[in-house]
Amino acid sequence: APADIECALVVLGAGPGGYTAAFRAADLGMDVVLIERYATLGGVCLNVGCIPSKALLHAASVIDHAAHGAELGISFAPPKIDVDALRGYKEKVVGQLTRGLAGMAKQRKVRVEQGTGRFVSPNEIEISGADGSTRLLRFAQAIIAAGSQAVKLPMFPWDDPRIMDSTDALALADVPKRLLVVGGGIIGLEMATVYRALGSEVTVVEFMDQLMPGADRDLVKPLAARLKAQGVAVHLKTRAATVKVTKKAVTVGFQAASEGGKSTLESGDYDRVLVAVGRAPNGAKIDAEAAGVEVTERGFIAVDRQMRTNVPHIFAIGDIVGNPMLAHKASHEAKLAAEVAAGEKREWVARVIPSVAYTDPEIAWVGVTETEARAKGLKVGVGTFPWAASGRAIGIGRTEGTTKLLFDEETRRVIGGGIVGPNAGELIGEIALAIEMGAEAADIAATIHPHPTLNESVAMAAEMYEGTITDLI
Ligand code: FAD
Repeated sequence: APADIECALVVLGAGPGGYTAAFRAADLGMDVVLIERYATLGGVCLNVGCIPSKALLHAASVIDHAAHGAELGISFAPPKIDVDALRGYKEKVVGQLTRGLAGMAKQRKVRVEQGTGRFVSPNEIEISGADGSTRLLRFAQAIIAAGSQAVKLPMFPWDDPRIMDSTDALALADVPKRLLVVGGGIIGLEMATVYRALGSEVTVVEFMDQLMPGADRDLVKPLAARLKAQGVAVHLKTRAATVKVTKKAVTVGFQAASEGGKSTLESGDYDRVLVAVGRAPNGAKIDAEAAGVEVTERGFIAVDRQMRTNVPHIFAIGDIVGNPMLAHKASHEAKLAAEVAAGEKREWVARVIPSVAYTDPEIAWVGVTETEARAKGLKVGVGTFPWAASGRAIGIGRTEGTTKLLFDEETRRVIGGGIVGPNAGELIGEIALAIEMGAEAADIAATIHPHPTLNESVAMAAEMYEGTITDLI
């Protein structure tokens, strides 16, 4: 059949992976079509992920700063929260960015096709519109960037609006009196931070024996302590086991994570429940088999160092190819795939991908963690700088922070780093650069950092390892 649309390159999905790939390929002179089922570009990150969550976390930080004003001799009245206005602020931020993307697509003559795409052959995708109409698109090459979605534990009655995934929580329908967060990872704790600041009584249950599994325990400690001080109830090694909904409440029962153990948390009534137990790739939802593209049982698509799937003219990038599911990983892979599709000889060279939890305090880590290093028996040296010795941290009243660097004992090169404290996410980039460039402890220590900054703590951690530190502060 004749195709309705022809193109050199089609990109399926317009998240940070998809739009970056489409824009890069267009900049390299390719004729590109970008398929997106939703009305706006930007995918999870811009619409219901990174961006709206950070806008709401900013509101939480304004509330918290005001609450701590008294320590400085400045008092404010208790906050009055206009949820509609706050939601409006968040939507304005998201709208500005998604409109910007639409403009950038237009400028580059990337053709955006709204609808749901599925492969029908190795060179064809059928696009279905919301009205039931279909269009056949024929492509020479394709980049799959269809992303992921929240895991919806089947024990919860998802047709009840009080049961929320992260998208529902970001919609900010109201501020529930009692909120249960199932899952103490990055997304669960970011949303717990927002709702606690807005006034919800928040309970967090986490299956593992620490919050934020994946980050070093010592980095998680200051966050756990602050959450506790703020009245957030955290129960580790606990899982939600039973759910009953009545008009009045969502009643949740708990069990210890270990078989047969007793939970430390009694069954309780909640007004809303956020389930944040991870995300699953969308690989099984695009009929990839019609194109011959292999999809794993879990829905991931395997790729090589050029982001090619097992079908050489079809690439895949972003959340759909594997962990960590992060926007900056997706966009990095996107550029690579677009360049290879355009005929450039490139491959994946990134050594490390930073992770950040934008909680209060923030936790950021990159490269090898101390836990991993010990488990693997790596010969590592650690340089730790406690923020209690930082003049700047003392000045902002946040001495609970820590900056930690891990060095290869043989080469003295930095191979990992972790930071907990306000702005940790802004500080981790330097460590990523240091690892990528093969910096040694002495290089970092000898680089003059501005004083007094939290950023200085990176150089101080290297000085701690070098043994050249003179004064703390
Ligand atoms: P996605 O962003 O998931 O985009 C995929 C797109 O494809 C979607 O728009 C989808 O509608 C579309 N699509 C899927 N199937 C089809 C189809 N068949 N036809 C047409 N279109 C289709 N990451 C960070 O780095 N920093 C953060 O602070 C951060 N915060 C987050 C907060 C939350 C609450 C969540 C949920 C995620 C967060 N993430 C964060 C993760 C980040 O959003 C993802 O890693 C990123 O969006 C992945 O990009 P992607 O392009 O692979 O896929």
